[in-house]
Amino acid sequence: MSDPDPIRPLHSLTLGELETTLTESGQPSFRAKQVMEWAYDREKRVESWDAMTNLPAALRSTLKERHPIRVPEVLTVSGSEDTTRKLLLRLHDGEFIETVLIPASPALYGEESDRRTLCVSSQVGCAYGCKFCASGLDGWKRHLSADEIVSQVLLAEKISGERINNLVFMGMGEPMANYTNWLQAVSILNAPWGVGLGARKMTVSTSGLVPRIRDLADQSLQIRLAISLHGASDEVRSQIMPVNKKHPVAELMEACAYYGERKKQMITFEYILIEGVNDALAEALLLADRAKGLRAKINLIPYNTVEGLPWKRPSEAAQEEFLSILRDKGIAATIRREKGHDIDAACGQLRRRVEKDLVS
Ligand code: SAH
Ligand code: SF4
Repeated sequence: MSDPDPIRPLHSLTLGELETTLTESGQPSFRAKQVMEWAYDREKRVESWDAMTNLPAALRSTLKERHPIRVPEVLTVSGSEDTTRKLLLRLHDGEFIETVLIPASPALYGEESDRRTLCVSSQVGCAYGCKFCASGLDGWKRHLSADEIVSQVLLAEKISGERINNLVFMGMGEPMANYTNWLQAVSILNAPWGVGLGARKMTVSTSGLVPRIRDLADQSLQIRLAISLHGASDEVRSQIMPVNKKHPVAELMEACAYYGERKKQMITFEYILIEGVNDALAEALLLADRAKGLRAKINLIPYNTVEGLPWKRPSEAAQEEFLSILRDKGIAATIRREKGHDIDAACGQLRRRVEKDLVS
């Protein structure tokens, strides 16, 4: 079991699982629907079992024991000049995660404009140790449970008073390494009795866990796939992403092709531009070839400086040149002039700063 604790909080359960628990204890299964309505209906969204007033008191106290409601504490809500808002959440065991609300950005992943996108974390820390990334710097602490993933959406909607209509799993952690809990959360977020977000409105980003990409390809959910590529050759990619030694680029491309075929979808490559590391013109040409083979789109992301790391972004002229090489080859590529630069919106950065402040 990959749950960090044996408790099954309410927001980690599917409707079917709750129905089973209820019928096994001699309760009518319709109660499960009532509970989910209290938990997820936008008019209700209660945060305690006692607020579910149409449930018998005895049943409430049994369920409270078995399936506690855990609401992370919102520690800071930082605003940014471009109205990106970052929520720092403290979990039940004192760990921190972050979730970032990005309003009204142009279409990045979906077909239409991404109106209110939430960038969701999947783990505390990350074990994959990409050299440029703040989340990986302190290693991996633990998986998030399904309710901790679902809660990020509920809290973001509560605090903003707005409905989130796109999710990107690009916060802290590697979602594919927490596959079971992550997929459980996705099915709750997707379900009509749950948050009701279309799978096509969700994008999962992975550093390239090939077996999990194939597993997800075999699932019926039409989730979009983004690959953190950041290097088109094994030489460059292995230097900055240790996962590439296990699953080299060619193997990753095959898994992407499989995903694209199964889902009849376009894949996105994320490509951070880091000066002197992966921005050579030869790398751009190879990247174009890789994308062409898969009909993938490319999002170029100028590197966001991380305290303690030596990397920086290339000049704007160099970024534009890289972009034009891709476009000249007929690739759909954009540069993501990222939002939230002034609030450490790149994954893992706010958490690191707050943890440092707390211990110093
Ligand atoms: N582990 C997953 C999802 C989380 S990372 C993955 O790697 O895909 C989300 C995205 O942020 C990834 O594309 C990652 O490469 C990128 N990222 C990490 N550090 C960054 C930085 N300093 N500047 C810009 N993007 C960064
Ligand atoms: Fe982990 Fe993704 Fe950061 Fe790599 S880029 S260390 S996989 S969070």
